[in-house]
Amino acid sequence: MLHLRHTRDVELVPFRQFVLKLHSRCDLACDHCYVYEHEDTQWRGRPMASPRRVLEQTAVRIAEHAAAHRLSSVRVVLHGGEPLLAGPETIGFAAEQLRAALPDSCGLDLRIHTNGVLLDRRFCDLFLEHDIRVGISLDGDRAANDLHRRYADGRSSHSKVLSAVALLQEPGYRRLFAGILCTIDVRNDPLAVYEALTALDPPGIDFLLPHATWVHPPLRPDGPESTPYAAWLGAIYERWEAEGRPVPVRTFDSVLRTLHGLSSLTENLGLEPADLVVIETDGTLEQADSLRTAFDGAAGTGFNVFDHDLDRAARHPGMIDRQLGLAGLCATCRSCPVVSSCGGGLYAHRYREENGFENPSVFCGDLKEFITMVAARGEGTDPARTEPTAGTGLTDRQWDELAAGHGGTEAVRVLVGQQLEIDRTLLAHVATSASAPSASTSASWRLLTEFDVQVPDACDQVMSHPYNRTWATGRWQRGDGGDSGDGLAESAAAVALRAGSEAEVRVPLRGGVLRLPGLGRLLVDGDAAFVSVRSREDGFTATTDSGATVRIVWAQQDPRWQPTRTVAADADWTVRLEDTDPCRDAHGHPVSARLGPEEFAAWERDLTSAWALIKRILPGYAEGIAAGLSVITPLQRPSGRRDISSSARSAFGAVGIARPATADTLALLLVHEFQHVKLGAVLDLDDLIDGNDARAFHAPWREDPRPLEGLLQGTYAHVAVTEYWRARWQDLRGRNGFGTAADRARDEFARCLADTAQALGSLSASGSLTGLGGRFVAGMEATLRPWLDELDSDDGDSARPVASHVR
Ligand code: SF4
Ligand code: SF4
Repeated sequence: MLHLRHTRDVELVPFRQFVLKLHSRCDLACDHCYVYEHEDTQWRGRPMASPRRVLEQTAVRIAEHAAAHRLSSVRVVLHGGEPLLAGPETIGFAAEQLRAALPDSCGLDLRIHTNGVLLDRRFCDLFLEHDIRVGISLDGDRAANDLHRRYADGRSSHSKVLSAVALLQEPGYRRLFAGILCTIDVRNDPLAVYEALTALDPPGIDFLLPHATWVHPPLRPDGPESTPYAAWLGAIYERWEAEGRPVPVRTFDSVLRTLHGLSSLTENLGLEPADLVVIETDGTLEQADSLRTAFDGAAGTGFNVFDHDLDRAARHPGMIDRQLGLAGLCATCRSCPVVSSCGGGLYAHRYREENGFENPSVFCGDLKEFITMVAARGEGTDPARTEPTAGTGLTDRQWDELAAGHGGTEAVRVLVGQQLEIDRTLLAHVATSASAPSASTSASWRLLTEFDVQVPDACDQVMSHPYNRTWATGRWQRGDGGDSGDGLAESAAAVALRAGSEAEVRVPLRGGVLRLPGLGRLLVDGDAAFVSVRSREDGFTATTDSGATVRIVWAQQDPRWQPTRTVAADADWTVRLEDTDPCRDAHGHPVSARLGPEEFAAWERDLTSAWALIKRILPGYAEGIAAGLSVITPLQRPSGRRDISSSARSAFGAVGIARPATADTLALLLVHEFQHVKLGAVLDLDDLIDGNDARAFHAPWREDPRPLEGLLQGTYAHVAVTEYWRARWQDLRGRNGFGTAADRARDEFARCLADTAQALGSLSASGSLTGLGGRFVAGMEATLRPWLDELDSDDGDSARPVASHVR
């Protein structure tokens, strides 16, 4: 029976991870399987495959939970038994339901965890189409894997799993590969296991302790007091460190992170509250699967997706017991010197018949020894060398770089990669949503998924075009009406042209305009509604349905073809000046028409000068801009108005700017707007503020009150603006001595510093920053703090009221 100590009211921790069982049987018969070989027998009474009505209702429940708790993302792991036994149709249906149900504001990290033996191209193509990442179970080399992971008739599964991994290593499928999960058996040679797994070049490895309890202790060949699991993990850890941590290992990274006061990456270690729920094939809601190892029915909650919302399950005493951190542990663990790393180990491993889970882990001796060894061995090591901040893909160092206001090449490249995944997801949403598509849209999406396998680089270049997201967001929000364009067909045509593919792509025109995202636009005479685009060696042809053909040769000017022009500011940064894309109208200000040669030359001149200034005085911002700012859209400049610039969450990588009077101002606008671009991407990864806070806040640089996110955005931009004026002041003072321009820069610096510090104070005092939000604000404060002393030591006094808060 379940023994629970903690049933008092605690703040509800929303679920962010959902294990969705698609099939309750397996084609393997692993003898260490917690589903079929341990205490639990509930699976016998459940449907084999999850019926559609369960999947539909599950999607509804997850979506309402995400909306109610304003979750910016959720992770859903398609699981089993063996989920591939559910078949492609059920998997595709589950993915469609989830994507269709989730609110636009909530990202979906969709994964499948499989034994791999059935994985083939058909499944991989399906996973590409639905953006599903794949985790594979593999226990090491053939000998290690054969110890447990066999078919019921005793045959080895090893070669089939290796074939699955080889498939996931192909260029077209590589991005699907999420990593390998390896269950430890101390009879296996640890280094042979490590070498076998790293030889497969996985994006990550997780070593899992075998499931055991105090009722059924784990195998210990040298007696109950021995610690073979510490020795086994320790041998691999030593090699991993000696090799420079060639691959992220979740167990090791979690220990390193928790030793440095950061969060664990796994529920097996650390004190983070559990945020995972399991949905069985009949729709019942259960706690962590690992609990099945404790006693029959241990994972049950009594709730199901048809009769109960997910908050009910989140308030189940068993869930709450795993959310109490230190307070939820037994007295022995609470006084343990390594408790912040260990956290009492996996909850299921604490089970005893007499007192339930109020015990240390049955692996206590191993955990203590291993963590102590890592602490001693790893003193002074950097926890952020390999492993990302939970869920973001950013290492802690990169995350802190961004929090400080900057963000180097690698940090921004991570954001670029994450945003590309969002673009792909959004396009998949649009392509597969019920309201969508015409037959031609479906055909374009099929073509794009084929291109994604054949020419992934060309596909990435087109899919990441900022205004593709603008189109997809608009289409998704509006449904099918009100937009003559078809971004999927346009993208497929652009990929075909970039890759020189022989495929012919039929694309609807937008009032006589063929949009080719990132390449340019073609003006087509007459009243044709569609053209068929085909790549040629030296250009392309576009043939209307009535047979009229336009032939474009890249090397020859043609008034009908308006290519997107680029400006190479120097060898480090090339940016597209986007004045043709019909979807570029995303910035809240009227866009410029196609630039004439003189205006384009003026942009070239000013961008080159602005970039040189940024590199010289703001190197901390230049790297990020070079890595992530790919498009500038010229805006109209109304007479008599101040400088205009803008960015949009729906157009990552783009900024809109009305070309200002000077290159110096252009530099300032570029730095300012790219802050919004970076922070928008960070906010797509992490909740920095409480989304339920509906208050309006005073921002020192605006008259109208701002929502909390607006204040955060403005503050982040003003950190860069402050640094710009500080750098200008120092630069001008160094070149010209004291003078009008230097004095003005100093005054701007002092004013911006005071404003930004005040805004940081408002953010901190809001009480609505998440843990990461607090860390982000602290990063900005740390950037500002030394500047106060600079002003203090200068003659002026305009910064004196600045900000006791930042000090
Ligand atoms: S593959 Fe997984 S679900 Fe299937 S028997 Fe093995 S451990 Fe159990
Ligand atoms: S090492 Fe043992 S006593 Fe310490 S926290 Fe872990 S399980 Fe508890």
